[in-house]
Amino acid sequence: MQKLITGLFFLLFCAAFSVAQPSPTYEEAIAAYTELAKRHPKSTRLVEVGTTDSGLSLHLFIIDSRGYFEAERSHAQGDIICMVINGIHAGEPCGIEASMQFAEERAAEPEEGIVYVILPVYNIGGALQRNGLTRVNQNGPDAYGFRGNAQNLDLNRDFTKADAANTLSLQRAFHEWKPQVFVDTHTSNGADYPLAISLIHTMPEGLPRMQGMLLQREIVPNIYQAMAERGEEMNPYVYTKGATPEQGIYAFTDIARYSTGYAALWGALGFITEAHMLKPYEKRVEATRRFLESLEEVMLKHRSTIHSLYASAENSRRSQREFTTQWEHSDEVDSINFIGYRVDSLLSKVTGLPRLYYNSTQPYRDKVPYYGTHLSVRKFKLPKAFALPQGWSHLIEKLEASGVQYRRLGQDSLVNAEAYFVEDYKTVDKPYEGHYLHFETRTVLRPVSVQLREGDYIIPCNQSANAFLAQVFDPEGPDSYFNWNFFDQVLMQKEYFSAYLFEETAAELIKRNPLLRKSFEDKKSSDPAFAKDANAQLNFIYQNSKYREPNYLRIPVYRLGL
Ligand SMILES: [Zn+2]
Repeated sequence: MQKLITGLFFLLFCAAFSVAQPSPTYEEAIAAYTELAKRHPKSTRLVEVGTTDSGLSLHLFIIDSRGYFEAERSHAQGDIICMVINGIHAGEPCGIEASMQFAEERAAEPEEGIVYVILPVYNIGGALQRNGLTRVNQNGPDAYGFRGNAQNLDLNRDFTKADAANTLSLQRAFHEWKPQVFVDTHTSNGADYPLAISLIHTMPEGLPRMQGMLLQREIVPNIYQAMAERGEEMNPYVYTKGATPEQGIYAFTDIARYSTGYAALWGALGFITEAHMLKPYEKRVEATRRFLESLEEVMLKHRSTIHSLYASAENSRRSQREFTTQWEHSDEVDSINFIGYRVDSLLSKVTGLPRLYYNSTQPYRDKVPYYGTHLSVRKFKLPKAFALPQGWSHLIEKLEASGVQYRRLGQDSLVNAEAYFVEDYKTVDKPYEGHYLHFETRTVLRPVSVQLREGDYIIPCNQSANAFLAQVFDPEGPDSYFNWNFFDQVLMQKEYFSAYLFEETAAELIKRNPLLRKSFEDKKSSDPAFAKDANAQLNFIYQNSKYREPNYLRIPVYRLGL
């Protein structure tokens, strides 16, 4: 009993002297937006746009000074549509609250020319797993959600594979609203520095040239400036080349699986805010809100340019034939202003080994190397159209959510096409986001004659989704449907030969086909292991004969020249 009373006093003592850092629950956030929409019916609306893996609907809160609530009318008016998603990692809720505060202000005084489409809480399943432990290094709030969603997926890796219902619902909303500007709010992990917020922006190289230049030369510097004027200087997100920021910082490679990388495929200028995990929660909320205000100022300044470049990029994308599907950092180095803490090395009390230590008594403002440019290392050329047999129609839901247009074939047709055959690939040892990802995939393109059937899908490559089609259908690209395992069925042979029976057939085959005989003999003389392996030799003849299975190693997405 004595112990219990002492314990109770201790808890009361802690409660009295620690600063409580509350954050809104999912239910509180939706209740607040519901109430806000009731108070401002002319300029705001709260709508449900589809389900999530939690079983609960995804909400959008729209702020539109003109009261249209219709993307097409806003685009026609020259307005900018800015989509803000919060809580994709539900343990990082400062954006959820910052957006609530921002929406409260803008609902009362909406800014003409900008329509906001705010997702109050994107990862609902994560928000419902409320706890105060899973962000071990984070300074508050007292309770927050979890990174994984109701399927334990990291939604910020899900934009091409679209395993989560959340992703499909968000993608449908994205293509309904066609935002020119896209924001995804986070809290950082990693390095310590004095500032409360850092920023990732879309790779300029991933955007059409004029949009990339506008982003890099005008919009990003203007946002940094607007933030500084509000007393919130920013660093670029610290993705270090070595152990510390002084050794250099890399720009983020936002390929299509990430929110901003996906958004960029449709020409949306993307921003990921990373409020600093070690700053108090309230401070992080404030810094994220200041970002939204600064972004608004910059969007208004460049409103007509953002609008017209987005529209012309969409037009030219429809006829663009070639897209980059793989990027690498360039060695080209620039320098940027960085505000950091000097790094010391201490001996760890736990391991006894040297450990990194950010010395907060030694702040600095200095230039650090910045690896900000990306090189295109693989380009993919689109055909006139792709054909996808209806046996693979489970992929259509994903393509449809991404706004991909297609038609069904009206009659059976034998067509001349090209198909990718898998020559080589590697697979990760452990699953990544529910998949055994392939990498270093090598394919060869061969002409094929394919029997398509009535109802098969024809996907023309003259559409707004062209850049996306290149990402998912280039089998060698890091975000392709092949590398995400959607065509693993073709990696396995379904029928085999019995060696003792195939012997006679194989002998006949090499007798009748001098070319096959020559390549067989060449391989035997150049490959000693092959020369001693009877089964491998029979298999070589089998795989190079008419008996080979047509589906084996052939990716069932056919390139049509039409
Ligand atoms: Zn995050």
